[in-house]
Amino acid sequence: MAKRMAKKVVNKKKFIRGISIIIAGLVIIIMLIVMMIKGIIYLFTKPKDDTKQENKVAQVDNPVQEPMKTNTLPASTTATNQGTSQNLDVLNEWNLKLVNKDNSVDRSYVPELEELDDGIMFDKRAIGYLRSMINAMYKAGIKNVWVQSSYRSYEKQEELFNRKVTYYKNQGKKQEEAERLAQTVVQRPEMSEHNLALAADFNTVTNEFENTKAFTWLQKNAWEYGFVLRYPKDKQEITGIVYESWHWRYVGKDHAKVMKEKGYCLEEYIDYLKGAQSV
Ligand SMILES: [Zn+2]
Repeated sequence: MAKRMAKKVVNKKKFIRGISIIIAGLVIIIMLIVMMIKGIIYLFTKPKDDTKQENKVAQVDNPVQEPMKTNTLPASTTATNQGTSQNLDVLNEWNLKLVNKDNSVDRSYVPELEELDDGIMFDKRAIGYLRSMINAMYKAGIKNVWVQSSYRSYEKQEELFNRKVTYYKNQGKKQEEAERLAQTVVQRPEMSEHNLALAADFNTVTNEFENTKAFTWLQKNAWEYGFVLRYPKDKQEITGIVYESWHWRYVGKDHAKVMKEKGYCLEEYIDYLKGAQSV
């Protein structure tokens, strides 16, 4: 009886040991599975674009690993460098070409043209924006608007200028004086923005345009199509051209937006870009 009891105790001990081994084995297997799952989750969720964050994670996992050198540059330095090279590129953009008394346009400059309407030609790269802008005005109920004049060849501008000079000479002015007077009304051929095919003169090409709904609409919305009032009333000293409410110039939406926000004319805006470049 006692022998049987002893055997029972031994069996019970064996049984407990067996169970313990199995439980321990299970715990180890579960821990391994959990670690594997964690590893898989990390592989799938680690950030791809943000190298800084990836580097941080790597450092935590492996403290011996050296931090990546690219991340030691302060963010602001990188941003300034990018801005500078961008500004350099921007100043060479076709849509920012500056034409005035100090910056003449080359006689040979002939952009690729497309017809807007009845012989009115515009730069092929910008004509879509002009069309959209006019369509938007139509949609807003402004039907009494048209482009009277846009691209003029160097020769055409020369002809217009010479005609004005002759007009003043016929009034008894000397050549020099006649040219000076003509220049206040018609641009010299090398100084006219119309040679760029990026300027549109609206309606009657007089300051009566200022009193139209079209003008009010353009003042508010033209920037969205990349157009700016090229010769504003309060910038005559800077542009060197008398106020022209009818003359709108394409510069591109991004530039037009900044010019509108800061109240810059094109001369001021280009100076502003150059300033940003030299920083
Ligand atoms: Zn004009």
